[in-house]
Amino acid sequence: MREKYRIRIEGTGASFSAWSPDVPGCVATGRTADEAGANMREAIAFHVRGLVADGQPPPPGFGRLACPRCHKVFRPKSVLRKFCSDTCRRRAWEGVAMARPIPRSTKCRECGKAFRPTRAHSAYCSLPCRRRAAHVRRTAKFGRAPVAARRSKR
Ligand SMILES: [Zn+2]
Ligand SMILES: [Zn+2]
Repeated sequence: MREKYRIRIEGTGASFSAWSPDVPGCVATGRTADEAGANMREAIAFHVRGLVADGQPPPPGFGRLACPRCHKVFRPKSVLRKFCSDTCRRRAWEGVAMARPIPRSTKCRECGKAFRPTRAHSAYCSLPCRRRAAHVRRTAKFGRAPVAARRSKR
C-alpha cells in the first residue's frame, strides 16, 4: 500500500524549503515553491527506498500509525490510540511488567532475614514484618509509645 506524506513548503523569497511532518529528518530546497515540492517528493521517495532496502518499514503516512508492538500500519480511530488492537495494547503492557527485574534475594527491612521477593518492590519477608513496619512508622509519626511498651501494658 502506498503511503501519503504531507509536504510543507516555507518560502523566504529567494529560496524555498520543504519538509514533512510525517517523515522527520527529510528536507529539500528549491528556487520556487514548485521546485521545492518536487525535490521533496523525490527526497521522500529516496528516503523510503533506502529504508525498504535496509529491511525497515516505510514511515506511516498521514493519518496512519505504526503499531509499536507488531509494526502493522493502521488508521487510528482516535489520537489517543497507539496500538493497532486491544491484544497488542495488553501484550505491550504485560511486556513492561515482565521487564521489571525481580531480585533473587533481598534483605527484609524489618527483621533483616534474606528472602526471595515475589514482586520487584517487596521489602519485607512476610506479612507480619510488613505490618510491624507499618505500625512502627505510624506510631513514630504520631509520637506515641513504641509497640513493645504498649503491648506489655495489655
Ligand atoms: Zn499491533
Ligand atoms: Zn522479616
